[in-house]
Amino acid sequence: MILEEMTTVEVEAALAKCRSVIVPLGVMEAHGPHLPLATDTIQAYDAARRAAQLVDVFVAPPVPYGYCRSLSGHPGTIAISAETVRSLTRDLLASLYSQGFRNLILYSGHASALQMAALEEAAEAVLPSCPEANVAVVLEYDVLRKRMAGIIETPGDMHAGEIETSRLLAIRPELVRRDRLPPASDRESARPILARDVKRYWPSSVLGDPRKSSEEKGRRLGQIVAEYLAELVQRMEQWQPH
Ligand SMILES: [Zn+2]
Repeated sequence: MILEEMTTVEVEAALAKCRSVIVPLGVMEAHGPHLPLATDTIQAYDAARRAAQLVDVFVAPPVPYGYCRSLSGHPGTIAISAETVRSLTRDLLASLYSQGFRNLILYSGHASALQMAALEEAAEAVLPSCPEANVAVVLEYDVLRKRMAGIIETPGDMHAGEIETSRLLAIRPELVRRDRLPPASDRESARPILARDVKRYWPSSVLGDPRKSSEEKGRRLGQIVAEYLAELVQRMEQWQPH
């Protein structure tokens, strides 16, 4: 059930039978010369929509902005602060709860530690005021990392590499610039020193090997995340809030 495409009458009727919702979260962030800036948003929304084909669940409109620091110097990266992520997430959860949703899944396509911390902090903050809610915070990369053996060949593949390029080839192939697939790349960091010019340390914005990607790998990864989300919805529906 795609919330943004439904009418208020349809939502009211559907809420009588289903109180679970997935909120996909992404970011506008450089993903090499070959993938669109909204890659994480596209992945998260697709995973949620596929899950909705396996189990009854609402899918909220995706949040297209998130916290991003390491690629903030690349053209097109448009970031919001962790504070804004927290406020936005708290407001969304409170509003969904007030509408009657009880199983709330925050599903992030964006693997920033600070973004994930902001989501978790926001979710923790609403628990006391939403006593009947079950809230889950899920990172797509974590789901895949534990389940992608035998599919993904590149050790440490994480950003705009084999995983994400495969995912996009399966979801929106027309958005993948196949003639610009860059070679495998790593990243450096000045840490623990905080550099101002972060682009200097990760000019490629790729961590992994895009040239090992394939549509078939992306299809299998898409199936894994959809099944994971569908099982999580079922588990949360049995879960007694505590
Ligand atoms: Zn990404």
